[in-house]
Amino acid sequence: MEPAIRADDLRKSYGDVRALDGLSFEVERGEFFGLLGPNGAGKTTFINILVGLVRKDGGTAEVFGFDVEEDYREARDRIGLAPQEFNVDRFFPIHEVLEHKAGYHGVPPAEAAERAAEALKTVGIYDKRDTRFDWLSGGMKRRFLLARALVTDPDLLILDEPTAGVDVQLRRDLWRVIERLNAEGTTILLTTHYIEEAERLCDRVAICDSGRVVEVATPDDLRSRGTDQLHVTLANPPESVPDITVDGVVEYRVEDDGLLVTAGGGRSVAPDLLRELEAAGYEVLDLDIRRASLEEVFVDMTRPGEEAEQLEVLQ
Ligand code: ATP
Repeated sequence: MEPAIRADDLRKSYGDVRALDGLSFEVERGEFFGLLGPNGAGKTTFINILVGLVRKDGGTAEVFGFDVEEDYREARDRIGLAPQEFNVDRFFPIHEVLEHKAGYHGVPPAEAAERAAEALKTVGIYDKRDTRFDWLSGGMKRRFLLARALVTDPDLLILDEPTAGVDVQLRRDLWRVIERLNAEGTTILLTTHYIEEAERLCDRVAICDSGRVVEVATPDDLRSRGTDQLHVTLANPPESVPDITVDGVVEYRVEDDGLLVTAGGGRSVAPDLLRELEAAGYEVLDLDIRRASLEEVFVDMTRPGEEAEQLEVLQ
């Protein structure tokens, strides 16, 4: 079966700016997939190519096997997009906006009305159905964008920073809705700057930078590539770094109550570390492992070399 999304060597420039510079990756059907990258990495440009708002310069993009340009209609009808910007017709009651949208995708009027009601109920703003978009609160506007993406019953739901600027409660509400849709079979493509959100929700993430994909992996796999910190509490803390060697350890630091050990793959290092310490005469009272967060790994992978150096100079 064709994947939900296939991007191969996608290219797009705006003047001298290479927004996409050979972007390639695939999203399987039914996956909850995160697209992470710093500002300007090309995420929105990629999404706009998928939905036909931007024309690519080169490469291919397919949605469920349909080329986004040659088979535009088939590809577009399978996608529901909740964009970053509020691009909504502001003068109609929101249920009408949804009905128009469904109608545009070929849904007959009676069914469009039912779907509009259903989508508004799903996101929890059915009681606002007769209100104009302008008069909704910021959080309700975000919910509405999700309802509009859902009204065409998409196989692929694309969420471009769906929780930007929303409060914790609403964020959790939106997560629940999206997780349920995914459990029911909808493929999700999520972009977010809340790395913790991607870590919690996504099966896999692509980390992109400067218009290319740097890495695709599960959040857990990415975290295991970071450096972890092991805090070892000792009954007899040393004055200086003990003379032990353990594979994988990057650094030892003496603390008041023991040692702070930095290592790649902290959990696998721990048994050897404890054995070596005990063999060297230390009594271990406690061990606390703090794993690298996805955010730390993300920052390492996308750190702009020159700019980071300049920042360090400024500090
Ligand atoms: P963000 O996280 O800030 O939303 P992004 O990863 O979505 O960023 P894009 O919006 O795709 O990034 O932008 C990629 C690059 O292309 C940026 O340098 C941006 O300034 C440029 N760009 C995007 N759209 C246009 C446009 N219409 N005209 C000129 N440059 C553009």
